[in-house]
Amino acid sequence: MEKYYEKLNEYYREKNSGKKCKSCKEFKTFKEENGILSFSCGGKDKCSRSFKIELSEYINYNDTLHEYNNFLNKNNNMKQSDKDSLIKNLEEILKLGEKQIIKNNNIINKKKLISNYNDLKVKTTVEQSKLLNDINDDEYLGSVDKRELIKRYHSLNTILFENYKELCELYEIPTDENIMINKGKVI
Ligand SMILES: [Zn+2]
Repeated sequence: MEKYYEKLNEYYREKNSGKKCKSCKEFKTFKEENGILSFSCGGKDKCSRSFKIELSEYINYNDTLHEYNNFLNKNNNMKQSDKDSLIKNLEEILKLGEKQIIKNNNIINKKKLISNYNDLKVKTTVEQSKLLNDINDDEYLGSVDKRELIKRYHSLNTILFENYKELCELYEIPTDENIMINKGKVI
C-alpha cells in the first residue's frame, strides 16, 4: 500500500510538472481508464520511465445497505443457493464496512469525548450548586471571599462551554461512509 501511495504521488507530480520528461525531453503521456492510471515519460531508449496503478475501489456504505435491503425484499426468480451466497457476500462487505467506518471516523474517540463531556457536566452542576448555596447564604463563613466564589462559578461555565464547542466542531466533520473494497496497487 505504501508503494501505491508513492506512485500515486509520482503520477500527479509528473502531471503537474511540465509536458516533457526532464531527462529525455519527450512528451509524457497520461492515461486514466477503468480505474487504472498509466504514465509513460515518452522516452524509448535509456530513459523509458513508465508505470501503471490500479486505483483503490470504494463503495458507499449506505447505498450498499440500501441495495441489500432491496434485494432481501424482492421476490426474484433467483436460485436459493445463489441468493444465499449473494446475501453472504453483501453481509461480509457491510461488516467490513462498519469496521472501516468506525476506524476512519474515529467513532470510538468521539464516544469517549461525549462521555467525558457528560461527566464534566454532572461535576460542574454539582460544584455550581454548592457555590450558589454559599453565594446566597447570608451567614456564609467560608474562608474564600464571595467574589471569588462568583468568579469560580462563571469560570466553570466557560470551561463547560469550551468543551461543548470542541465536541460540536468534531461533529461538524461529515462522516465518511466510503468503504474500500479493493486495495489499490502498482501493476
Ligand atoms: Zn524520459
